[in-house]
Amino acid sequence: MEPSLVLSTLKAVSKAVLLDMILESYSYFAVREKRLGEAKKTIERVNRAFQVIHEINDLIVRATDLNKLLDNATRIIVETGGFALAWIGMVDPQTGLILPRAAHGLTDYLKGIKVSIDPSLPEGQGPTGTAAREKKVIVVQAIGEDPRFLPWKEMAQRFGLRSASALPIVIAGEAKGTLNIYSTRYASFTDTEVALLEEVAGDIAYAIDHMEKEEEVERLLFWDGLTGLGNHNRFTAYLASHLQILNSEKDHCLVLILDIDRFRVINHALGVPKGDLVLKEIANRLKVFAGDSGDAARFGADEFGLALDICNKNPLTVIEELRRLISLHPIRLDGDEISVSASMGLAVFPEDGLQASQLIERAKMALSEAKKQGEDQICFYSHELFEKNLKKVELERELKEALKNREFVLFFQPKIDLLTREIAGFEALIRWQHPEKGLIPPGEFIPFLEESGLMVEVGKWVMEEAIRHIKESPVCKDSRMVISFNVSLKQFEKQFEQPGFIQELIETVKASGVDPKRLQIEVTEGLLMKNTRETIEKLARIHEAGLGISIDDFGTGYSSLQYLKDLPASTLKIDYSFVKGLPDERDDVEIVKTILLLAQGLGKKTVAEGVETREQLVFLAELGVNEVQGFYFARPMPKGECIKWIEDYRPETYFWPRR
Ligand code: C2E
Ligand code: MG
Ligand code: MG
Repeated sequence: MEPSLVLSTLKAVSKAVLLDMILESYSYFAVREKRLGEAKKTIERVNRAFQVIHEINDLIVRATDLNKLLDNATRIIVETGGFALAWIGMVDPQTGLILPRAAHGLTDYLKGIKVSIDPSLPEGQGPTGTAAREKKVIVVQAIGEDPRFLPWKEMAQRFGLRSASALPIVIAGEAKGTLNIYSTRYASFTDTEVALLEEVAGDIAYAIDHMEKEEEVERLLFWDGLTGLGNHNRFTAYLASHLQILNSEKDHCLVLILDIDRFRVINHALGVPKGDLVLKEIANRLKVFAGDSGDAARFGADEFGLALDICNKNPLTVIEELRRLISLHPIRLDGDEISVSASMGLAVFPEDGLQASQLIERAKMALSEAKKQGEDQICFYSHELFEKNLKKVELERELKEALKNREFVLFFQPKIDLLTREIAGFEALIRWQHPEKGLIPPGEFIPFLEESGLMVEVGKWVMEEAIRHIKESPVCKDSRMVISFNVSLKQFEKQFEQPGFIQELIETVKASGVDPKRLQIEVTEGLLMKNTRETIEKLARIHEAGLGISIDDFGTGYSSLQYLKDLPASTLKIDYSFVKGLPDERDDVEIVKTILLLAQGLGKKTVAEGVETREQLVFLAELGVNEVQGFYFARPMPKGECIKWIEDYRPETYFWPRR
């Protein structure tokens, strides 16, 4: 080979090698560059994912509202994470559908799609459904090619979505929903990024769990489940913060507590579900009435609270409006029309108090006064009421002491059989032997015993004492003598409606060994006007056990004849107010005659109470009354005196010779 050729060949070869080397190094650097670029992108994406975690955690720490938190979390994923769409779906346990609860980005995509957890449906086989069902992360790197995405493929393509991942939101071992993230790039989710997003889903799960628990606690603490109104706690809190912004110089706020009249009767007559609807309707009316210038709450059962800014309006005008709202339009419940009325107690800021709890307590005090006056009554708090209440509280305290110190005593007043002229039995009447004030009659303390709830215990004592009297007094051994004791209306409601009380009463009588026929319960006629069917059933059980039932103060109430007919009572006690006018007052004479006719017709015995004179006795005897009771024979006496009275009793002292 020619040296020049060799040279040129060498040159060419070396050129080629050089070129090759240059080319090689070029491509080496290009690849490196590309790799570097990719690595940079990956690092950027990982950084963004870290940033997402950071921002969402920050959100969780500050969040007070779950919906807002979830909304913001999806926003952060899209904006900080650089995704096209993020949504959080929760599994509806009823339908198995996964329903969006929060979303950000291309949210229109969600409008047309349906996702289920059910594997037998095509829309249950996608990443979201599978992630929820299998509690694992599902990544779809190419939406257009993945068969799992078939039901949503077209829609996704329309929105330019190319890859997606679904991450389960697991709470207490159960997938309650999923976090779903979409990207407009293919294969956008790297392993590192997915691991970080999994952490985001975990944080969201924690937040949902924690906040739902908190919401539940708050719901229980502050809200009424039935009506959706706030409860007593929430009302107090509302009022306390509201009063702070009021000016006691010129603002007025009405605090009103309202109790539906005879709600128990409504509940009994219509059944509890309809009773609930009545409460809901009242709640709605109050809510509307309170509007923006106040707040309505349900305190419990049929009691509601209302706070209203009344500015310079007359409170009476406001109350009248409210009253009309409640009672003017009957409540319609498929077919039934129910008219309701309410009793109301009121206190006004600032006149009656500056603090929420004080105003509420005072409005309550006014309510109980209103209720005492009957139905549909309104009562404003006043200083006199406060004084009265103070005395009541003091008296209730004293009564508790009295019970503990055994200061109650039973007095006995005889009843005389007009046919045989012998002692038919006694009525046991309670007295309070006060250490300083002396003997106090029942009218002065029984209402307080009833209000304080002590009547139940005192009532038990009365019965046991009456039984003891029969057992221990030798003169009472005469088996014809019946001892009666009184059970007041409220006492009956509280005591006899306690489950098991009647059984307990029957057992006590049995255990005492006293013939139940020798015991009689006196209930007032008013009892029959309330819950009549139930009352009759209860009285019937007592009657079946052998005890007598007597209707006290008969003629003062409005018993329907139907109820009287069904009543297991053996005796009607003619009220002393009718006996008082005998024999001269025409009206009284007519009333007593009518009662006697009624009693005879129904086959019941009669006892006339309050007999004070011989004329009254003669008259009643002629009319055919069975028994009499009154000062003419004897006042109610303590046990010892009573025993002596029985021993000394001579009919001729009181009666005339028989013809
Ligand atoms: P009541 O059951 O109608 O008792 C009759 C009341 O009339 C008694 O009053 C008695 O002292 C009085 N009285 C008897 N004879 C005459 C008379 O000739 N003239 C006049 N003006 N009054 C006469 P008291 O003892 O003050 O009892 C009042 C009411 O207190 C009773 O009316 C009864 O409803 C209630 N009460 C008494 N003891 C008890 C009890 O242990 N438990 C309950 N729940 N209530 C009781
Ligand atoms: Mg009585
Ligand atoms: Mg009476």
